[in-house]
Amino acid sequence: MKKSDVKRIVQANIEGIQKKLGLSSWNILVDYGPAMLDGDDTHYSGMCNTDPSLYESALVTLDHKQFETAAEVLHTLEHELCHAIGSNFDVCQAVLKRLLSKRDYEAMDVLFHIAHERVVGSIQSILKSAEAQK
Ligand SMILES: [Zn+2]
Repeated sequence: MKKSDVKRIVQANIEGIQKKLGLSSWNILVDYGPAMLDGDDTHYSGMCNTDPSLYESALVTLDHKQFETAAEVLHTLEHELCHAIGSNFDVCQAVLKRLLSKRDYEAMDVLFHIAHERVVGSIQSILKSAEAQK
């Protein structure tokens, strides 16, 4: 999709999604472009970075080239905002990075990411079921 189309979809829906997720007070910045992790060549459709030192603040990156439909944009935006709900885990991760050896931290980091994705997937399933019951 064109960046301008993705941006329009985000601007029309982000406030409602934030409200639904209890994130209305959050300062969410959305950037458009490649969504990649350091040391990983995978191109993700979206990413969410929260800074443990900045309370209720997140940067969502959406790669507009990865989307073909508005539904995909909205699903990914919701997914990335669900990661903001779990941002307290980022605080734990930052602390553990200082306490653990590099090897132990890297092992914990893999578990952290798997757990976080599963929690986000569960939240989205709950939301989908709740919306289907309306
Ligand atoms: Zn995710």
